[in-house]
Amino acid sequence: MRTTPPGYRPPPDILAPMTSSRPDRAARGAGRYAPSPSGDLHLGNLRTALLAWAFARSTGRRFVLRIEDIDRVRPGAAERQLADLAALGLDWDGEPLLQSAREAEHRAVVARLTAGGRTYECYCTRREIQAAASAPHGAPGAYPGTCRDLDDAERARRRAERPPAVRLRAEVGSFTVQDRLHGAHTGLVDDFVLLRNDGRPAYNLAVVLDDAHQGVDQVVRGDDLLPSTPRQAYLAAVLGLPEPEWVHVPLVLNPHGQRLAKRDGAVTLADLAAAGHGPAEVMGWIGRSLGLPGRVRTAQDVLAVFDEDALPREPWVVDPAGWAAQRAVGTS
Ligand code: GLU
Repeated sequence: MRTTPPGYRPPPDILAPMTSSRPDRAARGAGRYAPSPSGDLHLGNLRTALLAWAFARSTGRRFVLRIEDIDRVRPGAAERQLADLAALGLDWDGEPLLQSAREAEHRAVVARLTAGGRTYECYCTRREIQAAASAPHGAPGAYPGTCRDLDDAERARRRAERPPAVRLRAEVGSFTVQDRLHGAHTGLVDDFVLLRNDGRPAYNLAVVLDDAHQGVDQVVRGDDLLPSTPRQAYLAAVLGLPEPEWVHVPLVLNPHGQRLAKRDGAVTLADLAAAGHGPAEVMGWIGRSLGLPGRVRTAQDVLAVFDEDALPREPWVVDPAGWAAQRAVGTS
């Protein structure tokens, strides 16, 4: 049964709630969380995932997951990661995307860039790159372009020695992105690797293509990835893909100022549960670390009080050994 006449357009006031008060908050696409299944998620990962979810949901976006399994994969890790996200009360739209399932598309895009003269083969070993990149003159950390202008004979000779990686022929040396927390960030863009020399897609390529493929227009992730973002935004521009909104959130650090890791002690939901700290308590800790008012126990509690402007800009320093001690004191 037809309920609206043909050609019906809703009057402007029906659309108004979506678009009027804060146009930058109108529903557009999706936010995402994209863990690498190399192990269990620790508190830092969980906090970033919660933030990505809260940013997406508080702006009316979909929230999608992607398992970035083109690097190190530990069997069973992806399943445990999804179970942990669900245990914290995060929900997502559709099935998580397996990045490895898109390798053919990744390679097809590189083939197109290559056909347009936008790539070149690189035969450098890691050691050669390190030696060349630390030489005086070039930008620190930049690939110095050793293989950029080789002639055909030289390429044939080098190709016989070792399989090539494929690099982007960048036409800029830097690129500026706008980050919601960091403001304008200008960073290095060099001739970065698109396909590794085992033929597999490199992270900077896969992340750009898969975010576009999943309709992601808001990327919330740890601020350790801010330095890679100019490269990714530049690649999106080269490919004519829309650039997402960037939100690089502070990391969780151990008392030595290093990024939190499994070796720091009880930092995964499983470890913490074994030590008597269930998901609701962990959510409470994360909520406090985010400066949220009241006592949050679920992801929905977080969403109810989530305020992007009140987010701390400093890392959260945690001492898992301290928790154990606290608990021992509390239970003695
Ligand atoms: N897979 C990456 C990681 O787990 C995150 C990539 C991203 O968020 O862009 O560190």
